[in-house]
Amino acid sequence: MNKASILLIYTGGTIGMKMDPIEQALKPFDFEAIIDEVPELSKFAGRIDSYTFDPLIDSSDVEPGLWQRLAELIKDKYDDYDGFVILHGTDTMAYSSSALSFMLDGLTKPVIFTGSQLPIGTLRTDGKENLISAVEIAAAKDPEGHAIVPEVAIYFDSKLIRGNRAVKVSSEHFSAFQSPNYPLLAEAGINIRYNTDLIRRPLDWYSSLSINTKLDMRVSILKLHPGMTPQVMRAVLCGPETRAVIMETYGAGNAPTGDWFLNIVREAGGMGKILVNVTQCLTGSVDMDLYANGKAMARAGVVNGYDGTTESTLAKLFFLMGKSSDNEWVKEMLTKNLKGEITK
Ligand code: ASP
Repeated sequence: MNKASILLIYTGGTIGMKMDPIEQALKPFDFEAIIDEVPELSKFAGRIDSYTFDPLIDSSDVEPGLWQRLAELIKDKYDDYDGFVILHGTDTMAYSSSALSFMLDGLTKPVIFTGSQLPIGTLRTDGKENLISAVEIAAAKDPEGHAIVPEVAIYFDSKLIRGNRAVKVSSEHFSAFQSPNYPLLAEAGINIRYNTDLIRRPLDWYSSLSINTKLDMRVSILKLHPGMTPQVMRAVLCGPETRAVIMETYGAGNAPTGDWFLNIVREAGGMGKILVNVTQCLTGSVDMDLYANGKAMARAGVVNGYDGTTESTLAKLFFLMGKSSDNEWVKEMLTKNLKGEITK
């Protein structure tokens, strides 16, 4: 292949919405209309094909079924394209990019998510620049002909962020995403500056893509807060439908020191539940050796989630639990850096 070929996958989101005059609400519109809004794409030297999901959705409606369809589509079309751009709503984009990072194995081509804060048909839209640069990044190759970004990533407002490191931080600013615990993979100005040393490289450029679409969603997220009651905490941690709980703790992984709290943690641990400690702080890591309550949680079997985001920890759990019914194996794998999602 000489000229890059890109598959543009449209799932929905604000980028492709317009005002429905009757309902007075933003609704998705069809893909051709998006392309008409970006005539600049006709200057792209390669080929751009598109695939539109049906129905188009606001990303608040994203469910793991969409990730499975995305993984299958990418697998299906893998040999036909040099890169993939996924147009997706911003609200759950960090969940989807995290999930795809675990579901796609042996990736040698870029899978770049993007979207916008303002619909592409509006005058001040951020959608055009996001889309055009995402296409350029998905097509970018090094002198050996290898993809410069063979990763799942989010491109948004000049920043290229590893997909499983991204967090949506603003519902208003164009700069909607941050990468709190990992440097940017690239920044776009006059040129796109790639931080090539920070971008993951495949072990084998000629490996074929495999996908993991079996997910187990029996996870809940408990954000600790002053005033949490033992009853509510027990219901979340020890519920019969719960296989794993992400505990969003304070600071460096801290939690209440009271016996009631640790007793429930021990009770859940004794039931074989998988408990993972991530911090509520935007930046920094869990360190369960620092304070007495962190040590007590570690002794009770709580797994260190390090500096992983809640979004990527959730996706990692879905993926690992889908792979195995052995909770001890899942706990062990959680502490490993699988796709660049934690710093170890
Ligand atoms: N609600 C929209 C969505 O996530 C927001 C956006 O795309 O920015 O689909």
